[in-house]
Amino acid sequence: MLETSKDTLDPSDWNSFRLQGHRMLDDMIDYLEHQREQPVWQAMPDEVRKSFRQPLDDGQHDLTATHELFIKTVLPYALGNVHPGFMGWVHGGGTPVGMLAEMLAAGLNANLGGRDQAPIEIERQVMQWVRELFNFPKTASGLFVTGTSTANLIGVLIARTTRLGADVRQQGIAVNDSQLVAYASASAHISLTQAMDIAGLGSNALRKIPVNQQYQLDITALELAIAEDKKSGRLPFFIAGTAGSADVGAIDNLQAIAELCRRENIWFHVDGAYGALGMLAPDIAPRLQGIAHADSIAFDFHKWGQVPYDAGFILVRDGELHQGTFSSPAAYLKRESRGMAAGSPWPCDFVPDLSRGFRALKTWFTIKVYGEEKLGRVISNTCTLAQHLKRRIEAEPRLELLAPVALNIVCFRYRSTEANQVNAELVIALQESGIAAPSSTTLNGQLAIRAAIVNHRTTVDDIDALIEATLKFGEIITRSTGS
Ligand SMILES: *Cc1c(COP(=O)(O)O)cnc(C)c1O
Repeated sequence: MLETSKDTLDPSDWNSFRLQGHRMLDDMIDYLEHQREQPVWQAMPDEVRKSFRQPLDDGQHDLTATHELFIKTVLPYALGNVHPGFMGWVHGGGTPVGMLAEMLAAGLNANLGGRDQAPIEIERQVMQWVRELFNFPKTASGLFVTGTSTANLIGVLIARTTRLGADVRQQGIAVNDSQLVAYASASAHISLTQAMDIAGLGSNALRKIPVNQQYQLDITALELAIAEDKKSGRLPFFIAGTAGSADVGAIDNLQAIAELCRRENIWFHVDGAYGALGMLAPDIAPRLQGIAHADSIAFDFHKWGQVPYDAGFILVRDGELHQGTFSSPAAYLKRESRGMAAGSPWPCDFVPDLSRGFRALKTWFTIKVYGEEKLGRVISNTCTLAQHLKRRIEAEPRLELLAPVALNIVCFRYRSTEANQVNAELVIALQESGIAAPSSTTLNGQLAIRAAIVNHRTTVDDIDALIEATLKFGEIITRSTGS
């Protein structure tokens, strides 16, 4: 039982609390050290799921026993993105250093909405590094958000306010007669569609531009769509280029989009959810050329950057436009030049959130301890592994590559007359085997096994294990279905 002092939630016996804390820390370090010995993922037994359906009781439960419950019922049934065999979706692997930093942040319990405090200086420090990485001017602004979905929304909102003027904040989009329209490639992330919806502009006002053979936004088609909209009296205001598409890892021609945006006076946003941090890798950075001209960049430290969830980021070229989109006066948020209420502008002037956690700390630790060069090498290595996987697929007659491999995502399938059905089952079989965990996507009507190699722990052996398991299960499934 955790004995607490009479009126607070602190322990009455700090020493036994300390011992228990050390045990919990050791357990998590063991968990990370021995990841490879565990299955990537395993289905949760019914009785475990049922154990989470209990009514609230008013009992106090022992800390040690509650932790044991966590070890028994939570730890084994997580998604597995910490594991080297995890290749489903674009999930980061996290790091031991990030884990420790999260503990420090939780102990500090800082609220980074505003005011004069060192945690905000840490966030500003990370912001400065980000600005340098993308070659943005000193007048840029940027801060942590939950993820790229929110960062994309923020990009749309700033572009909207910039185009319609600050009055739109009081009067809504009715201040303007012409419809605002935005553009992104047909394989752009769904959060851009959602952003248009949430911003009140309507998801239909996002034009989904066809992609070329490389799954990149077709620039000519984009120009035509803009001309068409202008002729019809609509207002093109926002183009999102994708740096690392979620389905196949394509990078749009950011340079061409940048030039087009400048010519047409349209806001240039980059959805670089995972790909933007390719700037850390000398062999990938040149392929992101044009990103430095963006008006805003949305990206995640929790994907390729390996920072524990969540750590999204929005970077905006013109900090005044950014602040002008969100800042709101309120008496209780009064600023001073001295004392705790100094340090304006505050982070809350740049986002809808007032209460904000210390996401910056785990990112600061990650960059400081591992270093830019090492993080870049990890990113680069995932792309090398993707090329290895690609070569193995091309060398294996029973397998077929379904999309070009631009970065770290490989889409392929097991050949069969009933390919869609067989490969859907194959992906599930792989996941349930605990050997490797890819996900699936559909490309031109073809169901693909999609291996997104994001985790810094993944090695050539994990890729080879994926191939062996795919061949094994592919054969079993085709034999049993006779396809
Ligand atoms: C992951 C991803 C997103 C969404 O980012 P979250 O951090 O999950 O909100 C948006 N765009 C792309 C290209 C992504 O890969």
